[in-house]
Amino acid sequence: VTGVPAERAERVEAALADRGVDALLVTDLVNVRWLTGFTGSNAAALVGPRGARVFLTDFRYLSQSADQVGDAWERRIAPDLAKRLAEDLPGGLARLGFEDQHVSVRERDRLAGVFGDAVELVPCGGVVEDLRLRKDPAELDAIRAAARLADEAFEEVVGAGIVGRTERDVALDLEVAMRRRGAEAASFPPIVAAGAHGALPHAEPRDVPIPAGTLVVIDWGAQLDGYASDCTRTVATGDLDPRDEDVYAVVLRAQEAAVAAVRPGPTGREVDAVARGLIADAGHAEHFGHGLGHGVGLQVHEGPRLSLQGETALEEAMVVTVEPGVYVPGAVGVRIEDLVAVTRDGAEVLSSLPKALRRVG
Ligand code: ZN
Ligand code: ZN
Repeated sequence: VTGVPAERAERVEAALADRGVDALLVTDLVNVRWLTGFTGSNAAALVGPRGARVFLTDFRYLSQSADQVGDAWERRIAPDLAKRLAEDLPGGLARLGFEDQHVSVRERDRLAGVFGDAVELVPCGGVVEDLRLRKDPAELDAIRAAARLADEAFEEVVGAGIVGRTERDVALDLEVAMRRRGAEAASFPPIVAAGAHGALPHAEPRDVPIPAGTLVVIDWGAQLDGYASDCTRTVATGDLDPRDEDVYAVVLRAQEAAVAAVRPGPTGREVDAVARGLIADAGHAEHFGHGLGHGVGLQVHEGPRLSLQGETALEEAMVVTVEPGVYVPGAVGVRIEDLVAVTRDGAEVLSSLPKALRRVG
């Protein structure tokens, strides 16, 4: 049994007193995976009270769950997980927290029917997500490996030349190159967007050839052992309009200043402000309409946020992206994104690719 550290469940249980519940029913599958190591598509986990650990899945996952879920958990196999749990609840369970940010109103009502009057259901979302903000060493290694794999795929595909190929074809090749290197999947559908199309932050790759003499935004990432990476480079396909060179220089300056500001202490909003201020000073305030970055882990978008809404202070072992952009509608888009781990006194940049403006054929 490889499993995840049993200590994770202890940290969840320790967080429950503050929420006024005896136990937490974890039903979000990403949280179940973080907590138990189980990667299947149907499961739930109960943490507490007093050391109780119940893992539930259905018959399809009988042997997979035996392999993945550690001995700290009592495993139960049943077609109806909630009903099975209700039949045999740990003693002393009166107030049961549930993940209200993931449970639909209909599911909540069903849970209430199954557990009856003996158990009070208490909205308790975010307990596991808060603990997932800080990565343990094995998680950091997994994210580092995903980033390295994605960087290698980029070198293979983009380094071989992209002019005359369609955006879609390059995006597909990136995905294949990551899979061939062992990624389970791309962590999201890669973005490849040339010229004015790059001014759409979430551009969909088109069936049009990439021209020479323009900027191309490429945003991609790998998923490896469940963990995501996320990176963006904007490359030049030959000589550029001076306007495009200027925009690139502004974004690069903002990106480097923001990376240098990453360390334990400042809130996501404060780090965001570093890049936002430099971009505004260059006259592009209205061309940077998204947040500076986001946490990355089992999900490619998770906490903490680096944005105007980012109230969480950065702490050691958080992993975030730093990805300012300037998007001039109808003209040009530039985004530069690194994946960054917060260290004890600064930051470790996990993306290895250079950021000076690169010309590719
Ligand atoms: Zn990205
Ligand atoms: Zn991102």
